[in-house]
Amino acid sequence: MMTKCIYCGTAAQDFDHAPPQCLFQRPLPNDLVKVPSCKKCNRRFALDDEYFRDSLALSTYDIADPPELKTLHEAVRRSLLRKNFRPPARRILAGSRTGWARRGSPIVEQVKLLPIDMKRIGKTVERVVHALHFNHTGRVLPLGYEPKVIHGGRMATVDRLDLPFFERLFAPLSQAQWQSTGGRAFGYAFAKASDDPDATVWFLSFFGRLTFLAFTVPD
Ligand SMILES: [Zn+2]
Repeated sequence: MMTKCIYCGTAAQDFDHAPPQCLFQRPLPNDLVKVPSCKKCNRRFALDDEYFRDSLALSTYDIADPPELKTLHEAVRRSLLRKNFRPPARRILAGSRTGWARRGSPIVEQVKLLPIDMKRIGKTVERVVHALHFNHTGRVLPLGYEPKVIHGGRMATVDRLDLPFFERLFAPLSQAQWQSTGGRAFGYAFAKASDDPDATVWFLSFFGRLTFLAFTVPD
């Protein structure tokens, strides 16, 4: 049987990694999830993944824990120093401005505000959910179940809140087992509705610093 790309359904000649492999140094951790993917989808994802990595690194530059995060900072710093190379970090820094914010204390400090495109960040997270769902269930998400990602308390793409439905998903999430890959680089927990294996809720954490809630629920 021919293996199909889980994202577009054409013949898969490649693998996609979840979380994205650009978040790690070589050699890659051997516990990353690998799913069948076509070359075209892989190429399309690569730019968003770099944007995700650079945004994560720049917005946590003053945090040194976990050590996996420090390694990521160093990789992005090196990429900024390379001549004739334009990492997304360069564009993000060029658009930054100075502002004021509270950072964990009542005192307002001067900070660098970064123009990070959360919608684009969300695209990488959607794909990670897609891959993990396939890895756990062996099922390709049906049409209409595209992952929806919520970050920072902002309801980005969920326009309908069916509370009894979400309650049914959230109660099992509180019992779900926490799973991690790549040391402390990535962790997640998920739960699915008892009557629909494609209706799922996810809590995802990148380096313990960037967290998302995501759903796959029918439109
Ligand atoms: Zn594809």
